[in-house]
Parts: sequence; C-alpha cells; structure tokens
Amino acid sequence: MTKMKEIQSFFPSEDGNRESREHFIELLTSVLENMDQFKDTHQVTLGPLKEKSAGFYEELTNSSAVPQKGGSFQGMIDQLTDLMKGHPFQSRYFLTNVLPMASIPGLIGQFTASLLNGNNLWDVYGPAGAEAETKVISMMSKIAGYDHQQSWGYTTWGGQGAVFTGLRLAIAKYAPSAVEEGVPNNLYVFSSEQAHYSLLKSAEATGIGRNHVIKVRTKRDHSMDEDDLQKKMEKVIEKGGIPIYIVATTGTTDNFGIDNIQQIYATATQTTQKHLLPSVHIHADSALGGFYAFFNEYDFSSNPLGFDDDVLAGLAQIRSRMQYLHLADSLCFDFQKLGQTPYVTSLFLVKNKHDLSLIDLDAAESPYVGNRGYGEYHTSYTLECSRMASSISILAALQLFGVEGYQVMLANYIQVNLSFRKQLNEQIPHLSITNPDNPGPVTAFRLYDKGFDWDREASGLCTKEQIIETNDRNEALFEYFGENRAEIFLGDTKKFDLVPCSNGEELIPVYVSKMFTISPYTEIQHVPDVINFIKKAIKNTTKSEVSISC
Ligand SMILES: *Cc1c(COP(=O)(O)O)cnc(C)c1O
Repeated sequence: MTKMKEIQSFFPSEDGNRESREHFIELLTSVLENMDQFKDTHQVTLGPLKEKSAGFYEELTNSSAVPQKGGSFQGMIDQLTDLMKGHPFQSRYFLTNVLPMASIPGLIGQFTASLLNGNNLWDVYGPAGAEAETKVISMMSKIAGYDHQQSWGYTTWGGQGAVFTGLRLAIAKYAPSAVEEGVPNNLYVFSSEQAHYSLLKSAEATGIGRNHVIKVRTKRDHSMDEDDLQKKMEKVIEKGGIPIYIVATTGTTDNFGIDNIQQIYATATQTTQKHLLPSVHIHADSALGGFYAFFNEYDFSSNPLGFDDDVLAGLAQIRSRMQYLHLADSLCFDFQKLGQTPYVTSLFLVKNKHDLSLIDLDAAESPYVGNRGYGEYHTSYTLECSRMASSISILAALQLFGVEGYQVMLANYIQVNLSFRKQLNEQIPHLSITNPDNPGPVTAFRLYDKGFDWDREASGLCTKEQIIETNDRNEALFEYFGENRAEIFLGDTKKFDLVPCSNGEELIPVYVSKMFTISPYTEIQHVPDVINFIKKAIKNTTKSEVSISC
C-alpha cells in the first residue's frame, strides 16, 4: 500500500464497496463488545471505578503528545476501550442526576448525522440537517402548544444556549438598536431562586451584567412566588430600570418545581402595562421538564395506557402547569435529558419566528453562504456558525418512541418516585421528603434528629445552629453515599433551598440527598434495595440520637 492508500483506508469507502464496509462494522462491533464486557446490572460504572491519584491530570498533561507515526486500528480501539473503564453507566441503580443513557435511535441518528457530516449552517451544505430540523421544530411546536406556522427554532448548545438566546431576543425586542450600538445599562432580568445558573452566565455574556439578574423567592412547591416577582419588578421600575426578561423554570433540576407560567404571564403583563412599558420576553426553561408536555393531550379519563391512580394524579398535576407552556415566548427541550438522545441535542423554540429576524445578520455580512439563487435555509441568527445536525438524532428518537413511548417512559419515572416516597415515609421516619408537592423524576430527602422535620424547618422554626447541625448530619450521609456509589449512585445538593431561621435574618442553604430516576432500567421492584441502602447509610453515619426539639 502506498502511504496515501493507507490514509484512504482511514475513511469510509468512496465507492460503497463491501470489504471496506465490513471492516468498518468489525471496528464498531469491537467497540460495542468491549463496552458490553464491562457491563453489570449491579454496577453503575463500566467495570470498577478508576482510582485517581492526586496528580492524575497532571500526569496526563506531562505524558501526552501526538505520536510521530500513526498507530493501528487495534491500538485505537484499545485506547478507546481504556477510556470506558470506570465510566458511569446508567444501569438500574444509577440514580444520581440528569445524566441519561442515550437510546439506540438517538445513537443511530447521531451516527447518521456524523456519516453525512453536513453543516447545518446552510441547506446546500447540510440538506439532511435542514430537513430534520424543520420537521422536529414543527413536531415539538405542536407538543408545546405553539402554532407551528408561526413558530421557529433550531438545535443549539444546551438548555443554557436556549436561556442565552432567549435573552438576546429579549434585548433586541426592547432595544432593536442594541444589536448595533450595544446594550443599554438599565435592563433587568428575573428568575426564581431555584432557576438554573444559566441566566447568570447569559447576563454576563450579553453585557447586561450579573448584578442585573434579580432572584425571585419561591413557594413551598419550589415554584416562583408571583407576588415577589411583582414587588421586585416594581422596585426595578421605580429606580428607572426596565424588566425585559423572565425565565420561568418548568421543572427545576433539584426538586422538579414547576413555575406557573399562566400566573407569571399575568403578573408581568399587569406590571408592565401599568407603567406603560413594552411586555417582557418570557422564556420557559423547560430543558428538563418540558418533556412532560407529552401528556398535555393524554386522555386522563379513559387512561388508555393504564397508569395507576397515583401516577395518573401526579401526571395530571404536572399537566396543570405544562399546559401553559405555549404562553412563553421561547422555550427549550434538552433531548439529551429526558428525550434520550446523546449530548448535545437541545432544541430551542420561539413562538414568533419574526423575533429571530431581530438578531439575524444582514445578507451582506455573510458572503460565503446563504442567500444565493440556490439554498434557502441559512441559520445566520444562531450564535454558532458551523452547526452539527443534532436534529437528525432527535428525529430518529421521536419517530421510534412516538408520543406513547415517551409517555410510558416518563410515567415510569413518576411511578418509581412515588413508590420510593411511600416506602421512605413508612420505613424511615427520620427522613423528610423535601419536595413532597412535586411529583416528577426526582425525590429530595433530608435526615433529621428526633423532633425535627422539613415542615418545621421550612417554616422557620429552627435556629441557625440547628439547621447547620442538620446539614452536617446530611453531609455525612452523602459522604457515605459517595464512597459507596459503585453499588447505588444517589445524588446530593448543598443548596436545595434557602430557609429562614428562628434566631436571625439570614436565609440558610439546605443540604439534601436526591434520588433521580434517569435509567430506563429502574423499575419499582428495585426500590426496596435503594431503601435498604439508605438505612445502612444512616446506621453507619449517625452517632447518637440527641433529642432537641424546635
Ligand atoms: C440542564 C438544565 C439547563 C442547562 O442545560 P444544558 O443542556 O446543560 O446547557 C438549564 N436549565 C434547566 C432547568 C436544566 O435542567
């Protein structure tokens, strides 16, 4: 083989010959076989966890360099296999956070997109992506309740990218000249205390500034307190500020609180009208929870999929909020989360496609692509230039699962959580569920000393010292969970909520553990194992039972 012939063998064939294809399939088979070898239904990692010394990354930095001579396919496979060792794997006891397993349609869709390797920037370079993107925008617009003839969107860099572009639109809608002249310095944005930190980054990156992000209090169900929103909007306006953007989180990551978009919309409209200001742009941060809009059209009375009564009640409660998603000016579906496709496959949607023209480039400013006699799909409004066609993966998943497939899977998460909550309450009285009002894929729980519970603590009846002591108790618990995560992998957070204390003005952050169901393999029959694991952890971390009451 000449050198150049060898290099050509690194590529898929030019003529579609069988020999080359079979070699390619062999390589793929090796990757799959090697991964399967590491799998164990009672392990949440591929093989044992990798031990990492303190200098692990430094050692890699020092020892890594591009090899002078190329290697072999076998060497490449060996190196990839080595990367798999100890990697998290979403078997039934993988209960830590939103880190889903990518489904086969999602993977094959992504693979197809990679094989075609079109550039989703322009349909002349990436026709498959343009077609798939148009389809999934329409499909998901209908699920969200948007008018598919008015709406538009694109796949982007995460739920964070969606929050960011929502803000770009909000700025351009209030001050169209900002695109040329820069951002006025009196613009303000709002989100709840439970919102994702995406908004902070977006405020920095757009030039609005992090100090212009106003955090709104949340209610006991962890949704935004609309009265506090109104107060804070009024205060901003009084001082000459302009509210332009509200992020309504529909499904918070830690506790699945769902903001009431209908109320937020009413509050925002009332407040801006009163002051003769233009309306604010509302972005539904539905990155995680938006998928539950798959139940917006479910027939709850005939219950065709036969869900249990408590599951049905939970789903109905979620729908009572999700049915107002369409009131938001923009929203997002993170398909790499509950959509079961690989990273990163986020879909950003806008209710009114004309909004995007406010941030679009002039044709003259993109001389290489778009606006020729040929090709009519040019995404010059995205922050990205070149774009991967992640819509192909989304399309494959939507086609294979269908609405019902998603309904079955999403309902299973609720069912497992409801069963877990029931068994926790019955068997471990010292644990409080700290998101009892939010049915969803996540249950947060906190361990107390005798005489304490979440109800009293959240009502401000505990002293600062007592809250901190409870935090320590829970930190010990999640240290144990962390050390034993190879067995059952739970999650935790050190800022689940902020609670008032009885002996001061401060709000104190609260530490909780979380069970996040994200594996399709977790079913209700696995719940007792999780309960026993928690019992063992409590036994191992709790020293004495001092009884103080608050
Ligand atoms: C995950 C998440 C984000 C961030 O999304 P990325 O895809 O990680 O960028 C933002 N908001 C919410 C509510 C989320 O759950």
